[in-house]
Amino acid sequence: MLRDVNAKEFTSLKNIPFAPAYKHTLVSINSGFRTEKPVCDREKCNGCFLCYLYCPDGVIRKEGESVSIDYDYCKGCGICQKICRKNAIHMEKEK
Ligand code: SF4
Ligand code: SF4
Repeated sequence: MLRDVNAKEFTSLKNIPFAPAYKHTLVSINSGFRTEKPVCDREKCNGCFLCYLYCPDGVIRKEGESVSIDYDYCKGCGICQKICRKNAIHMEKEK
């Protein structure tokens, strides 16, 4: 069920949801078409949350000062890797 979202609630990164679309807009688990998956190196990550904001599927979650990725729903588009200024995300071939 979609939530009634009031944009005024979101005045900083701290008070937006822990994942922007997680379980609100996604309807099915990745069906196996992904050929690469993003992997985050927490040592390089500075917690800017740009990837979290740009992921078109809302499958990147804020986790403390870093992020985690929900591989059930990630489609492997690589936008998060391209947007990361710290090169903290790399794409790995699916096995
Ligand atoms: S964009 Fe990069 S540095 Fe910023 S939170 Fe994501 S992985 Fe970390
Ligand atoms: S690869 Fe695409 S869908 Fe997966 S976490 Fe990155 S931006 Fe989101």
